[in-house]
Amino acid sequence: MKFLLIIFSLLLFQVPSIAQVEDSMQLRRIYHEVLERGECYENLRVLCKEVGNRLSGSDNAEKAVLWGETLMKRYGFDRVYLQEIMVPKWVRGAREKLLYKDSLKTIEPAILALGGSVGTNGILNGEVIEVRNFKDLERLGEKEIQGKIVFYNRPMNPTLISTFHAYGGCVDQRHAGASEAAKYGAVATITRSMTLRNDRIPHTGSMGYKEGVKKIPAVAISTIGAYDLSEALKRNPNLSISLDLSCKSEEDVKSYNVIGEIKGKVYPEKIMVVGGHLDSWDVGEGAHDDGAGVVQSIEVLRLFKKLSIQPKHTIRCILFMNEENGNRGGKSYARLVKQKGEEHILALESDRGGFSPRGFSVDGTSAQLETVQHFEALFRPYNLHLFNKGYGGVDIGPLKNGKICLIGLVPDSQRYFDFHHASSDIWENVNERELELGAAATASMIYLIDKYGFEQGLKRATFKK
Ligand SMILES: [Zn+2]
Repeated sequence: MKFLLIIFSLLLFQVPSIAQVEDSMQLRRIYHEVLERGECYENLRVLCKEVGNRLSGSDNAEKAVLWGETLMKRYGFDRVYLQEIMVPKWVRGAREKLLYKDSLKTIEPAILALGGSVGTNGILNGEVIEVRNFKDLERLGEKEIQGKIVFYNRPMNPTLISTFHAYGGCVDQRHAGASEAAKYGAVATITRSMTLRNDRIPHTGSMGYKEGVKKIPAVAISTIGAYDLSEALKRNPNLSISLDLSCKSEEDVKSYNVIGEIKGKVYPEKIMVVGGHLDSWDVGEGAHDDGAGVVQSIEVLRLFKKLSIQPKHTIRCILFMNEENGNRGGKSYARLVKQKGEEHILALESDRGGFSPRGFSVDGTSAQLETVQHFEALFRPYNLHLFNKGYGGVDIGPLKNGKICLIGLVPDSQRYFDFHHASSDIWENVNERELELGAAATASMIYLIDKYGFEQGLKRATFKK
């Protein structure tokens, strides 16, 4: 009797539905294809080594557009096309130098101008004043800050497990620090790099100027560079530095989002987007940020073709331009969607590095979140376990309209900021398997949402928890 009960309960609770068996097998096919014959890692090598870093408006960015278009055409996607946009052009310039004297020694730490910064227009000299945040500026006031170089030295919080939260907790120093300091008469800013690593590599990133506030130059210094400067200031509170920067902004130039798609066989007019951003900062190779997301997104469509998965909805891979310093690609794309009255049911972005995937964050209705969470069991064999409400991505953000579901691929975040916006963001620092696992997870999620949709019926799928 007890035996029968066990059998009965097994039948009732443990035996997966036919749909689930089918889906498990499909996910396995997807994972096997990527892990055995994946092409995303090689594609990333070509993008990193043959194109290189690709800041919006640069010649390399245009090379990257051609690379993406050519590759997707070679894969034979149903339609490959470019979407014209105007992008800002900021150029680093040849002169980028910071010098100071510490106990009679001349120190020249590595720096990087922040993206969008004005140049110094000759050599700029000034005393340095160290602060932790904008409150410090308020406390010190114009009396202490006028004519000085403000040094923001608040580190990322190492106790936060999500390094993105730690980043979010101090990135204001970078993007708004110059204008906040200029309000009190500062002549330039130096910002501690946004990384948890102790090294001598500076990390750049975007910054903006507030209207009506004087534009002052802004640079990033490495974490060890920040420590050294802070120690030197303790020895000599009147320490003065000289700064020489020749970066500048030029006129906007023409560029493109690169788009490839596979037509849906049931709902061709309903679109599911998968994408990342093609532009990168002008140091390193933009390997994790966001070459990884770009090649993973292309790999999703390649997998659908290779495995003869005919999607119900149209799957559109978008390589967005200009995420780093303007998000013009994402904004223009969303504007055109509205103009054309296109219906989008999903946009999934990979822009958090090519590391081991841990799950997905969902920015949508509670029904959409529930749908995604229903799939969790199918991802368990692949060590994905985070299926939470959360952020989608910068490029897909402007698509938000209360109906579309936005999803972000969530890789392990521990090492992302080691490389983010730095010369170390190179192909060699991306692990092949981790990159491939991210591509397989993304393709699997697209496959499941395409199959079941958000409305048609999870109830019918009855996934076992
Ligand atoms: Zn990015």
